[in-house]
Amino acid sequence: MQVAVIGGGVIGVCTAYYLAEAGHEVVVLERHSNVAEQASFGNAGIIASGDVPTWAAPGMSGKILSMLLQTEAPVKFSPTMSRSFWRWVRLWMRECRLERFRVNKERMQRVVGYSRDVLHELRHQHELDYESTQGYLQLFRDRRELQLAEPALALLADSGTPHRLVDGDGAREIEPALSSQTDLAAALYLPQGESGNCPLFTKQLKVLAQKMGVTFHFNAEVKSLRSSGQRVTLDIDQQSFQADAVVLAAGVDSAALLATLGLRVPLYPVKGYSATAQIRDFDEAPRSALMDEAYKVGIVRMGSRIRIAGTAELGAPLHTLRDASLRTLIKVGNDWFPNAANFHSASFWCGARSMLPDGAPLLGPTPINNVFLNIGHGANGWAMAPGSGRILADLISHRTPDIDLDGLTIERYN
Ligand SMILES: Cc1cc2nc3c(=O)[nH]c(=O)nc-3n(C[C@H](O)[C@H](O)[C@H](O)COP(=O)(O)OP(=O)(O)OC[C@H]3O[C@@H](n4cnc5c(N)ncnc54)[C@H](O)[C@@H]3O)c2cc1C
Repeated sequence: MQVAVIGGGVIGVCTAYYLAEAGHEVVVLERHSNVAEQASFGNAGIIASGDVPTWAAPGMSGKILSMLLQTEAPVKFSPTMSRSFWRWVRLWMRECRLERFRVNKERMQRVVGYSRDVLHELRHQHELDYESTQGYLQLFRDRRELQLAEPALALLADSGTPHRLVDGDGAREIEPALSSQTDLAAALYLPQGESGNCPLFTKQLKVLAQKMGVTFHFNAEVKSLRSSGQRVTLDIDQQSFQADAVVLAAGVDSAALLATLGLRVPLYPVKGYSATAQIRDFDEAPRSALMDEAYKVGIVRMGSRIRIAGTAELGAPLHTLRDASLRTLIKVGNDWFPNAANFHSASFWCGARSMLPDGAPLLGPTPINNVFLNIGHGANGWAMAPGSGRILADLISHRTPDIDLDGLTIERYN
């Protein structure tokens, strides 16, 4: 079967790789000149397989409201007049209820856990080296932050996921360079958590996919999609291109492309930032991945560099760097690893997560014949990419995916 994948981020490249492995003729259409140029470029790199970050959580709406006026707030709302913005916020607030949180977390956990296994297989099969680290430490600056994490801690205990709640000294046994000058009420250690350099991995997988026959068309922007029953037509500038099946993996731009087919999903861009700094003292640097829960900012070791990434802005212009958000990243870096690097001279980046209000992705078929989705991975697209790619390849090849897709398809919006 000839399959076109729209988007050359980590999701599109993983999908193309598994489609080729399943024997399909695959073309990736990407508007940039290389893979991993958008959200997949500067993310934190955390693979939080033990306790996947779930933004729609009990207490989150209150936390955000209380922080709106702070300069170094982790979340910024720039209310626009757009109906899609207000619809997203309304749906997201509904998903913050405890019973919805449990449902959504289980769905996301299902994908991330599977994806981690698929990633490990890939890593061993091809001896991939993408600056991975093992272990993940969540930092709670005060008791209030720890209280907010209680529903997640209860789910961890129920699921039997290995984890350990430790105090400041316990946290510094795991991460010896963690500063003792910053208040730390507790930390949660998840030994199964990992991290890795997402664009490095994506580029390595692109080469493997090319060897398997995948064709990458760069500087090719798909403007619209049309279905004529059996075949799907993609309009690219003055040309059009036909395929037996199409997988939409276009990140934040997926909603606009879906709209050309008359399909609407509440996908919204949630902007974030990262700072990447060269390590100047390796003894003072983090060993693996951490998350400052108060600021929702990740700190990750990537080879000889440290990446600090996070914050969430809704309704803001997507491509401009906002000083206050960069200051938040620098503050978090200096609070926890003050001697590791000069965070002021870091390389700064911004990008957007394509986020559904409940946080779980949309995988699989649509009501339009032969148009498939691999979208809406929100804050966990790197963690979910290998598994999501293989699921799409299984579905298109008429094979049963390894995990149940209940609650992960477009049917949840019907
Ligand atoms: C600050 C920040 C921190 C993050 N941290 C983490 C983390 O620690 N762990 C984690 O798992 N995830 C994290 N994420 C999320 C993760 O980066 C994304 O979920 C993931 O990169 C999404 O991959 P993607 O391939 O769907 O999107 P993208 O990487 O954005 O790729 C989509 C591609 O589609 C292309 N495209 C779009 N429209 C068209 C079109 N019409 N025609 C042709 N091409 C098109 C784009 O050019 C782009 O290359 C973070 C995100 C941000 C912003």
